[in-house]
Amino acid sequence: MTTDIMVLGAGMVGVSAALHLQKRERSVVLVDRGGVADQTSYGNAGIIQVEGVVPYPFPHDPLKLAQYAFNMLPEANLHWSALPKMAPWLWRYFRASDEAGQARTAQGAKPLVLASITEHEALMREAGIEGMLRRTGYLRLYRTAQAFDAAVTKETADRLKYGVNFEPITPDRIRELEPHLTERLHGALLMPDPVSVPDPGAVGKAYGELFLKRGGKIQRGEARTLVQRTDGNWEVLGDHGPIVAREAVICLGPWSDDVLHKFKFSIPLGSKRGYHMHYSARGNATLNRPVLDTDNGYVLTAMTKGIRLTTGAEFARRDGPPTPAQLERVEPAARHLFPLENRVDPQPWLGRRPCLPDMLPAIGPVPGLKGLWADFGHHHLGFTLGPVSGRLLAEMVTGETPFTDPKPYRIERFQ
Ligand SMILES: Cc1cc2nc3c(=O)[nH]c(=O)nc-3n(C[C@H](O)[C@H](O)[C@H](O)COP(=O)(O)OP(=O)(O)OC[C@H]3O[C@@H](n4cnc5c(N)ncnc54)[C@H](O)[C@@H]3O)c2cc1C
Repeated sequence: MTTDIMVLGAGMVGVSAALHLQKRERSVVLVDRGGVADQTSYGNAGIIQVEGVVPYPFPHDPLKLAQYAFNMLPEANLHWSALPKMAPWLWRYFRASDEAGQARTAQGAKPLVLASITEHEALMREAGIEGMLRRTGYLRLYRTAQAFDAAVTKETADRLKYGVNFEPITPDRIRELEPHLTERLHGALLMPDPVSVPDPGAVGKAYGELFLKRGGKIQRGEARTLVQRTDGNWEVLGDHGPIVAREAVICLGPWSDDVLHKFKFSIPLGSKRGYHMHYSARGNATLNRPVLDTDNGYVLTAMTKGIRLTTGAEFARRDGPPTPAQLERVEPAARHLFPLENRVDPQPWLGRRPCLPDMLPAIGPVPGLKGLWADFGHHHLGFTLGPVSGRLLAEMVTGETPFTDPKPYRIERFQ
């Protein structure tokens, strides 16, 4: 099979890139070793984080660093055995997380993040699933006056710097918004602008269906077989034989470096693992919007399968066996916060956030490898940024004027 362009990886990022290339009249084959949106893009918290211009930095506070190192906080879980391999990436992530680095990242992220809802809305309309969008914002919950006041101070500064909206709310207002929360809290911040969906995997699959309906092809194949042929075309081995294209896009999320390393292109890609579990709820209890327990770093949100609990970050070998210690650790707090009943999934789901040190994705051509493109590394925001990144990538591939300056996302910034 020969085509204009192949997109390697059918997560939210890959399927969005495929749709945007197809809209620009490219013949596109989407290649994955599994199904559409079956990996990281399946199990996230489903929030389109338009407040996410403020990135998720690595802590610099010495106390917090010590707590991370000794696994004293439920928001993070460190595997010491993974440290030697992760150290170079972690060090760069740490360095990019100082105040100046955060400001640079926010500046870079802003054009993508601000367009994220509009770009999802457009694809959702075309896929006929616009009804999945819940325009409720989300709540960050605080148990103590000290934590709440510190959050208000930080958010006030962020509002000035980055224009992120928030509304401090009282315990009475929390009860009005979320009558089924069972714990008495000190206060909350309502982040009014983010939206969410009840099944991020289903959104990815609906985008995949749209791509097929418009004549796109989805093939099973192994991206690590990618080679550049002597005629300059790119080839991977699919289940039904070789797939050949003039150009190729790497959208392999946390596995993107596997292919780049093959071509001796070094990229400091790390992964922050995370888990989810669904629960039934007692009686008619439900949540009207996602809630973030800021003390314990997990999110609870009402999903199609039940109440989904998603955990914070696990620093571990990307493909090492699951160790859902964080889930076990936060579950009692979650049960205290909300009337969770039985676990629904036979075992916890494990996902991997693809993270570049400066918390920005890589979008654009891979230097020295003509016809090879990158679109990966979307950190905690891959569900949010998939469609807008796909648009930017497709504009660059087809020579259109990009809607924003792509310089902050160039892959060679780490060389
Ligand atoms: C617990 C958790 C909660 C999160 N919550 C949110 C949220 O609320 N909002 C948000 O915006 N983001 C969230 N994220 C982040 C988001 O899920 C990711 O950034 C996003 O899913 C990454 O998408 P992707 O398409 O790059 O990668 P993936 O979805 O992982 O897709 C990569 C694809 O590549 C394929 N692949 C890999 N290797 C090969 C190979 N060798 N050959 C062929 N195919 C291959 C895989 O099968 C997979 O389909 C969360 C993540 C986690 C873990």
